[in-house]
Formats: sequence, C-alpha cells, structure tokens
Amino acid sequence: MKAIRASLFHCLRHPLKGHGPAFEYIPDAGLILEGGKVKALGPAESVLKGLDPQSVESYPTGLIVPGFIDAHVHYPQLPMIGAYGEELLSWLERYTFPCERRFADPAYAQRVASLFCDELLRNGTTTALVFATVHAHSVDALFEEAQRRRMRLLTGKVLMDRNVPEDLRDTPTQAYAESRELIERWHGRDRLLYALTPRFAASSSPEQLATVAQLWDEFPDCYLQTHVAENKAEISWVRELFADEVPRGSSYLEVYQHYGLVRERAIFAHGIYLEDQDWGHLQRSGAGLCFCPSSNLFLGSGLFPYRKACAHDIHVALGTDVGAGTSFSQLQTLNEAYKVLKLQGDKLSALEAFYLATLGGAEALRLERQLGNLLPGKEADFIVLDKAKTPLLERRLEGVLDIEEQLFVLMTLAGERPIRATYVDGQKSDVHA
Ligand SMILES: [Zn+2]
Repeated sequence: MKAIRASLFHCLRHPLKGHGPAFEYIPDAGLILEGGKVKALGPAESVLKGLDPQSVESYPTGLIVPGFIDAHVHYPQLPMIGAYGEELLSWLERYTFPCERRFADPAYAQRVASLFCDELLRNGTTTALVFATVHAHSVDALFEEAQRRRMRLLTGKVLMDRNVPEDLRDTPTQAYAESRELIERWHGRDRLLYALTPRFAASSSPEQLATVAQLWDEFPDCYLQTHVAENKAEISWVRELFADEVPRGSSYLEVYQHYGLVRERAIFAHGIYLEDQDWGHLQRSGAGLCFCPSSNLFLGSGLFPYRKACAHDIHVALGTDVGAGTSFSQLQTLNEAYKVLKLQGDKLSALEAFYLATLGGAEALRLERQLGNLLPGKEADFIVLDKAKTPLLERRLEGVLDIEEQLFVLMTLAGERPIRATYVDGQKSDVHA
C-alpha cells in the first residue's frame, strides 16, 4: 500500500454532456494505492488519517492529474521528429519511409522502443495507441519495453502492400499471418492490447483491407488504428485508387466502411476533411477520431472541426502524432489544440482540454472502466504537475486558486515542463529522477 498527498484534479464526465459534477478538485487530497489500483481518494485529513506521515509521499506544490492518453503516435518516427518542409505525401517519401526502413534491424527497433517509452513517461503519457512499422519484430520490441515499464499500451504491425517502397511492403497473406501471431502472443497480456494497423487506405490493396476485416471478425476485441482525411492530395489519391471498388461518390471514410472497418474500437487519426455523411457513420458505429493539432499545424494539413465532432457525439481523443507532431507532450498538444480552435473562432476550455487528454481518450478507447480518472478501483496511472517547477510558473500561478485557470496556465506554459513525477501501475517511474 502507498499513500500520496497533493492537490488533485480529474474529470468525471464530458464537460458539456451528461449530469452531475463534471470534475472533482481536491485542494489537499490523499490518494491511497494498492496492487496497482486506486484504493481510496478524498481530502487528505480523512483519507490519510492514522497513517504515519513518514510513509506518505507529499508534494506540497503538486497537482495530481490522471496519466495522459496519446491516441495517435508513431514510435519509429522518434528519430525524425521535426523534419523540415514537406506536406503529408512528400514527407512520407522523403523522411518517414527511409526512417522506418531502419527497423528491419531488431536491435535498432529495441533501442528506439526503449527511448520512446521513456519519452512518453517523461511527458506524463501513461497510455498510448502506437504505430509500429511493417516489421513484426518492431511490435515485439515495443510491447516488451512497455511491459517492462508496466504500461497500458496498444500497438500493432503496420500493414501496407502497395504504393510504398518495395522493401517496406507486406502482402495480404503476410499481413494476416503476422498480425494473427502477434495478437496471440500479446493481446490481453499484462496491460497490453493489440491494434490492427493498416497505415492508410492508399497503402493497402482492397485484398489487404478485406483481410483486416476478416482478422477483426476473428478477434473482435482487438483495436484498429489508421489515418483518414488528413490532407487534400491524400483524399483525391484515395478516391482515385478505389474508384472501381466502392460506390461512386464514396468518401474516404466510406472506403474503410466498405471493407467493414468502421466499428467500435477503431480510432481514425485526423478526420480534418470528413464529409457530411461521415459523421453519421462514426456516430452509429461508435468509432473514434483522434485530434492531432500539433501534427496538423506542422504539416500544414488543416484545422480539425472539433465542434462538429462534439455536436455529432463522436468520441474524440487527443494524439501527438509524433513524428509529424513536434512534441511528446500532451500539455503542449493541448496548447496547440486551443489555437486550432481559436483559428476557427472558438476556444477550448481547460476542462475540455484535460478531458480530451484523459477520460475522453479512455472513452474513445473503451478503457474508461480502467483509465481516465482516479476513482477507486481504477488503474493507478497518474502524474504530478508541479506548480512551482520553474520561477515563471510559480510567479504565474501565485494566488491562482481557480482550478480551471491553473490547468489552463499549465497547458499553455507546457514548455516549462511542469511534470514532476509519473506513476504507472501504482509505481513511480524513474524517468524524472
Ligand atoms: Zn499518423
């Protein structure tokens, strides 16, 4: 058993939907952990009563929030983050594919996977839905490193059998056999979950997409991650490639729908240019979208219609999309999300922002019974933000009692690296040591 004392904030529901309190803020909270789960939570004076103060980890300037959930990120792109000058398709050709080619070497994959997991934890991300590469061993490498750190992590082998360099292609048969083997080895083991991962419609043949659906029928509790409607050139290309395969006038999302891939537990990254009919498909299926503001700005892809997604009751998660995204930090990503909404004449409140990065992500991944806030019984993944981490933060937050203002400043000044500690499965990670 372990006890922690600090301020605590977590979301209890979507800030704009439902009834009852949307969040809980306890200025002086006690959090008791046992067996990797939250055992008790409440005001310190009652929850920690009778405990030896020496046994309590105290953070006098700390604010506990749930661990962040990054619902779209590419671990093989860590070595190429911040690559200059391109839009999506030329960026893939020029930087991404050469970088992913290096993962043919299992030792290289292992080294990057280890760095990647530490980088997530350093930034307070305790759960991520991650693209590996086309190489099956790249998935083993990441699962092993996540398992070693007791993380809840979802990943899968990238499936792509056309329109990418020859040495990065698989085939429908190989996609099926290797994914199946990985699912059997990893899905549901410790805190690890498998995600079927066709890169995007342009890089999978119709046969391969049909294979993915078949595999998903066989393992319906697996996830699916892919990209949709990120960039205008990409959309025209997908239309052209599938012109003879899908009904005339089909949208990009409807290509996936045609192959049976729009279901609950699917997370579609971007969705900047979805068409009118797509919102209904997403809503009825329960599939989620991932908002990746830093990536969308960096590649100049466009502005995600966040309000439209909310109005259609779509589950939206937040993603860094490293390496097109330029930071592993979900706080920094929220900072960019705020600006993406501002450019659309809107704004993202701190409550909505923290919901997106925590409980909203958990709901999109159907993991809200395990993750997303720190109610008793949930998995004990959380971080301690330090309101006095730098002189600037300390000055800015001096006398700010309102929790929403505190949260907004913490996300806006993400560059001050306000994370003091990351706890995974009830244990303090050593990345901040
Ligand atoms: Zn991506």
